Amino acid sequence: MKKILITGGAGFIGSHVVRRFVSTYPGYEIINLDKLTYAGNLANLKDVETSSNYRFVKGDIVDADFIDSLFQTEDFDAVIHLAAESHVDRSITSPLDFVLTNIVGTVNLLNAARKYWKDSYSTKRFYHVSTDEVYGTLGEDGLFTEDTAYDPHSPYSASKAGSDHFVRAYHDTYGLDTVISNCSNNYGSYHFPEKLIPLAINNIKNNKPVPVYGKGENVRDWLWVEDHARAIDVIFHNAKPGDTYNIGGHNEWKNIDLIRLLCQIMDQKLGRQPGESEQLITFVTDRAGHDLRYAIDSSKLQRELGWTPSLRFEEGLEKTVDWYLENEEWLKNVTSGKYQEYYDKQYGEG
Ligand code: NAD
Repeated sequence: MKKILITGGAGFIGSHVVRRFVSTYPGYEIINLDKLTYAGNLANLKDVETSSNYRFVKGDIVDADFIDSLFQTEDFDAVIHLAAESHVDRSITSPLDFVLTNIVGTVNLLNAARKYWKDSYSTKRFYHVSTDEVYGTLGEDGLFTEDTAYDPHSPYSASKAGSDHFVRAYHDTYGLDTVISNCSNNYGSYHFPEKLIPLAINNIKNNKPVPVYGKGENVRDWLWVEDHARAIDVIFHNAKPGDTYNIGGHNEWKNIDLIRLLCQIMDQKLGRQPGESEQLITFVTDRAGHDLRYAIDSSKLQRELGWTPSLRFEEGLEKTVDWYLENEEWLKNVTSGKYQEYYDKQYGEG
């Protein structure tokens, strides 16, 4: 029986990773540690919450004493670390929260692993989930590879870069078995609607303006979240200690083209006239320090571990729209109260 601590398992990607590990590996015991911030939601895991190999622990990775005692009581074989403050816009208004959770929280976990695993390093693994945003921005051409120098621009990406450096330092300095993956933008079910795709779906559905930063020229590489969870599974089980993998969909979209495609799908699904939803697109002042283009070279992962994305973007986007339209209750619950306050502050009341 392998005992695996997954942090941030009540969030968007974490819930898909928990679901995958709980259902694919009945012989593993999965412990989901999450603080349940605004982004964490146990309703994301309704279908696995009663599984006998799953347990939820509420707690804060910034609390070093709590993390220490958790590692002392539970003899974890591995950590898959996803807990983070993850929204770039929030990092611009509250950078310190990002330093605390993303850097201090990660170091607390590393310290506990170092302390309680020191006699069994060769059988333990610390897997850190990170982002391609640590690499900065690209011009018209080129791709981020695992050797691209870090060049973060937002407080979010700076905090993730800091945490990546600490994870590598604990491998190089103390010999901890660490693995890092840097992934491009994810989309899919259970995505909190402050992020571009679910926010646009929700607003189009409710006939509200769809805010697009600048002229919508920024390019992102999108990957279906379940393909990310599968990549994490493959890397977790097969990477060499200290290794890094980039994960991406070879699927670049300008924000404005993506939103137009989404509008077309929504017109069809909601029985609207072609072009009707597009009228909701509203250009808003660009995000400060907005990186122009991210694109990731995931050929190492494809070559060495045989992983490839399973879905074409158009197909995945339609599946995602269907999920949001079928899960109105989930959307209603997460967009009530605090979300509305945040939204009004960010984009004005409406
Ligand atoms: P998310 O914001 O949806 O979820 C984060 C989870 O972490 C939430 O459940 C939250 O409650 C929990 N959390 C936050 N602070 C905590 C704390 N102090 N202690 C314990 N739990 C805490 O984020 P996500 O989009 O699912 O991202 C998960 C990870 O993947 C992050 O590390 C992020 O940097 C990385 N990542 C995200 C993307 C993406 O497109 N969303 C892409 C690449 C990498």
